[in-house]
Amino acid sequence: LEVDYLIVGSGIAGTSLAFRLEQKGHSYVLVDVLNPSSASNVSAGICNPVVFRRLNLSWMADCLLIEALRFYTSMEKWLDVPLVERKPIVKVFSSAEERLLWKSKMNDVELVDRLTLKDQVFNTDFIDAPNGGGIIHGALQIRMPELLAAFRKRALASGKLIECPFDYTDLHFVNEKIQWKQVVAKRIVFCEGHTLNKNPFFKWLPMKPVKGEVIVLRIENMPSDLTLNKQLMLHPMGNNLWWLGSTYDWANLDETPTAEAKQELLQKLNDFLKVAYTVVDHKAGIRPAASDRRPLLGQHPTHSQLYVFNGFGTKGSMIAPYFSTQLMNNMEYNTPLLKEVDILRHYKHFHEMG
Ligand SMILES: Cc1cc2nc3c(=O)[nH]c(=O)nc-3n(C[C@H](O)[C@H](O)[C@H](O)COP(=O)(O)OP(=O)(O)OC[C@H]3O[C@@H](n4cnc5c(N)ncnc54)[C@H](O)[C@@H]3O)c2cc1C
Repeated sequence: LEVDYLIVGSGIAGTSLAFRLEQKGHSYVLVDVLNPSSASNVSAGICNPVVFRRLNLSWMADCLLIEALRFYTSMEKWLDVPLVERKPIVKVFSSAEERLLWKSKMNDVELVDRLTLKDQVFNTDFIDAPNGGGIIHGALQIRMPELLAAFRKRALASGKLIECPFDYTDLHFVNEKIQWKQVVAKRIVFCEGHTLNKNPFFKWLPMKPVKGEVIVLRIENMPSDLTLNKQLMLHPMGNNLWWLGSTYDWANLDETPTAEAKQELLQKLNDFLKVAYTVVDHKAGIRPAASDRRPLLGQHPTHSQLYVFNGFGTKGSMIAPYFSTQLMNNMEYNTPLLKEVDILRHYKHFHEMG
C-alpha cells in the first residue's frame, strides 16, 4: 500500500490532519490504538477565548476560533453528526471583588466584544450565585468523543485506519520514503499525544504533560443553555448529563481516576450547585502539554520524512483546526510555520543529545 502520509495517533491532532488531507485529496493511513482515556476522549471540547486566571484573551484566540468554527462545521457536514455547540460560558463570581475586576476588564480593547455582566446567572434555582456572574461570548463546544468515533468509523470502513499499536522498531527508511509493515509513505506524522516521550525520534522535545480528571454527573432538569464556571467547568452534555472538570496533576502521569480528585471536584461543585446530582462516570486523561506552552509542529532535524504534530496542552480543540492547515501547507508547499510553534526552536535539545 503506497500513500502520501502515515499518521500515528488519531486523537484530535491526527484526526484534524487526516481531515485536512482528505479535503485536499492527499492519501493517508492512520495507525491508532483506541484509548477511551486519551486526552481527546475525556475532553469537553470547550474552546474558550478567555483565560480565567488573568482575565485576558487567550493566545491567538480570535484567529483560532474563526478557523475552529469553520473546520468543525465542515466536519459536521462531512460526517453527518452534530458536533458544534455555541453556548456562552458563565463565570459565577466568588466575591464582589471578582465582579469589579470583571467590570474593569470589560473595557479592554481585546475583550470588549467578549465579556458582559449579568446580575443574576440564569438558573439561580440551581446555582448559588449571590455575586452574580459574567458572560463570555464567542465560545464553542465540540462533541469530541462523538467526532472521533464518527471519523474512526468512516476511516475504518474506507481502509484508512489500522487499529494496532505502532511499534517504532517497525519503521524503516527506504530511499526518500518510509515503510511501516505493508505501508510505504512519503512522510510520517507523529500525533501520539503525551506518549511522545516514548518516540525515539522526537523524545527530545520538552514536554510537561499534566493529568486531568473529570466526572460525568446526572442533574435532573437543570437548564442546559450555558456552560458554567466557578473554579471548574460544568458543561451540559445533553440528556441531563453534565461534564464536570477538571483537575491538574503534574506528578502522577497515569490514566487512573483517583478518590482525591473526585473529592476535589465534588467539593468545588458543592460550593455553587444547589440541587441533587448523581455521579455517572469518572475518568482521567493526560494533556500533552509542551514546557513552553506552545504547540509542537514540524520536521525532524535530520530525517526529512518525519514530522510531529503535538503539544496541544489544555486547548486541543481550539488549536487543531488552524495548525493542521499550517502543518499540511508546510509539508506540501514548504510554507513557513509560525516560529512560536515550529520545533526548530527546540533543535538545540536534539543536538545536545548527540
Ligand atoms: C481532563 C481533560 C479535559 C480537557 N478539556 C479540554 C477542553 O475542554 N477543551 C480543549 O480544547 N482541550 C481540552 N483538553 C485538552 C485536549 O484534550 C488535548 O489538548 C488534546 O486532546 C490532545 O490531542 P492529541 O491528539 O494530541 O492527543 P490524544 O487525544 O492523547 O491522542 C493520541 C492518540 O494517539 C494514540 N497513540 C499514542 N501512541 C500510539 C502508538 N504507539 N500506536 C498507536 N496509537 C498511539 C492514542 O491511543 C490516542 O488515540 C482536556 C484534556 C483533559 C485531559
